[in-house]
Amino acid sequence: MMRRILIISSFILLTFKTYADEGMWLPMLLKELNEKDMKTMGMKISASDIYDINKSSMKDAVVLFGRGCTGELISNEGLLLTNHHCGFGQIQDHSSLENDYLKNGFWASDRSKELPNPGLSVTFIVRMENVTSKVVKDLKGVTDEAMRESLVAQLSTEIAKEATAGTSYEAIVKPFYNGNEYYLIVMEVFKDIRLVGAPPSSIGNFGKDMDNWSWPRHTGDFSMFRIYANKENKPAEYSPENVPYKPKHHFPISLKGLKENDFTMVYGFPARTNEYLTSYAVDQLVSKINPMKVDLRGKRLDVFNKYMLVDREVFIKYADKYSGVSNYHKKWAGETRGLKKADAVAKKKTIEMLFDNRVTNEPKFIAYFGLLDKIGKLYGSLEKVQPEYDLFTEALLTVEIFRQANSLKAIVDLKAEDFSGQKGKDVFTNLKSSSADFYKNYHAPLDQDILVEMIANYLKYSKEDVYPSIFRGFSSIASEQELKEEALKLFQNSLIDNGEEVMKWLENPDTSIVSKIKNDVAYQAATFYFNQFKSKVQKEFTSINAQLIPLNRQYVEAIRLVLPEKKYYPDANQSLRVTFGKTEGYKPGDASKYNWFTTTDGILEKNNTGHIDYSIEPRMFELLKNKDYGRYADKDGSLHTCFAASNHTTGGNSGSPVLNAKGHLIGTNFDRNWEGTMSDVYYDINQVRNIVLDVRYTLWVIDKYAKAGHLIQEMTIIE
Ligand code: ASP
Repeated sequence: MMRRILIISSFILLTFKTYADEGMWLPMLLKELNEKDMKTMGMKISASDIYDINKSSMKDAVVLFGRGCTGELISNEGLLLTNHHCGFGQIQDHSSLENDYLKNGFWASDRSKELPNPGLSVTFIVRMENVTSKVVKDLKGVTDEAMRESLVAQLSTEIAKEATAGTSYEAIVKPFYNGNEYYLIVMEVFKDIRLVGAPPSSIGNFGKDMDNWSWPRHTGDFSMFRIYANKENKPAEYSPENVPYKPKHHFPISLKGLKENDFTMVYGFPARTNEYLTSYAVDQLVSKINPMKVDLRGKRLDVFNKYMLVDREVFIKYADKYSGVSNYHKKWAGETRGLKKADAVAKKKTIEMLFDNRVTNEPKFIAYFGLLDKIGKLYGSLEKVQPEYDLFTEALLTVEIFRQANSLKAIVDLKAEDFSGQKGKDVFTNLKSSSADFYKNYHAPLDQDILVEMIANYLKYSKEDVYPSIFRGFSSIASEQELKEEALKLFQNSLIDNGEEVMKWLENPDTSIVSKIKNDVAYQAATFYFNQFKSKVQKEFTSINAQLIPLNRQYVEAIRLVLPEKKYYPDANQSLRVTFGKTEGYKPGDASKYNWFTTTDGILEKNNTGHIDYSIEPRMFELLKNKDYGRYADKDGSLHTCFAASNHTTGGNSGSPVLNAKGHLIGTNFDRNWEGTMSDVYYDINQVRNIVLDVRYTLWVIDKYAKAGHLIQEMTIIE
């Protein structure tokens, strides 16, 4: 027995080797956990230059941009750099047929031309503190998960409130390691953020879908904003009186370039990873869930294309939605491919085998005996309900008229007396604003086609025997023609697809609206489907997950104790993290090897193919042909556009500063290679690369292409 364990152990240690590059680390623990590795890999600064709460440090130049990206400060006058795809919503909002900033780009010639963006905020981290002991002290003996959750929420609010009392800061307590640890995060949130510059999409989104999630890449994926503050340099709502924010730190920009295998580090807000999923979960993802979701999104994109490619107005309305849908369509396909190639399920199984062996043989781990079996059984039950759940969100909920109809339910739910009170006022104010946004970017004929397509696919995938009749009304319809007729009828008879009409309803908060909404066919259909979903799918899904959550938490606690030969990092949860690696290419397949950087020559090569995703403007073509790279050229004479590195990143790291060994800005993170997207679930050094926009190309575009050299003058440039 002992010999068998030894053999398994040494086999596993090979698969289980911790690569320095893997991990999204907490900045305040770098000194303890990572500084040594980082220095061995070439870092020249110290952990306290990266994160310090007593003096200014690099953390003071990194922000959560909006709700899901990262941005970095690049001047002492609040100038902020992020990705084009992160500022896309704002660029789109300011765009119209007359001022098509998506197509032509936008450059504020002076500060008075910078464009405000209501609703956009950036968040600085003031400090983070481990408050696990304060949270868990009251959780002893609590076995009911719902009770635990509500206690955690209550304690978290108290801790956050206490931490910000008497300050203008905001705070939150977040769970780490699946709820085994808790950290308080104190933040300063700025709300007057103005658009300063964005290249045309032919630069900012060069390569579009063809190149999304792929390497080699030539996308100039950047946009620039400025943070404004009140005269005391503190956050304030938009006001023309506000002044550019003076940050505690901004990144110097290095024009020196890099070599292969040079140290790089990414500082940002990775949103979500699932590194501790068991083999059961990964197996389901690869074999069932991802393929279905990829198929559904592909069908939606076909419908979008049918309308967007022939009508520029629809194109502008749906541009942001399209990029959201296509982004994950391609991501899930790549993730599946990468996980299969890395044999992730088998590798996870091997680790689980060692885990089980140690648990069985070492009495001190008795509490974890049978844990993986229990998790496996629950995944067995989830096998039926998970696809139904995903079908609801990826098919039914994508029909926009149903979503809008469902939002009107807030009016139906009001009591008669609420209509004249504050509650009614709030409901109507919120709905007026969300509906105005909705109709601004809505095209009913497109949505009608989505309805047909999604229901046809719902019926294809749904296991009628498991959850019959969620689509009653459509489920007996056999042919696509009949489906089309039904959809047409729904749109002809409903008023909810008509923005003017609904906005009129909302102008007069009157009880008579209730019957208008209730009698609307789209509302009736949406309500029926939502109710069916809640009772037939969501209930069971939630109940299985409520059992899985504590088991997964226990597994993460256990694996750190039972298999201590690996350094563990908490899953991404949109908190500030540091990840480090080096510039390196990779082998995408047999007999091929990718270089670690690209140059503008590749833009011309791709453009030469004639593919629409590689269109560039004649002016750009001329500039690139002339090879006038100025001080932005690399030592090799070319203008580098992007580079690949082995930093462990994920969604949310978009826009993150990428720094060299001295902490100088060398690029902006914006993507990963296709197979590399699997790093959200399983990291494989051979396949995972983050993709970075070389800052020298960014500056070249600003300077030579946009002739906005005044912006470069406010930066700190290291030649
Ligand atoms: N493209 C991603 C983002 O939008 C970055 C990534 O997932 O690597 O955040």
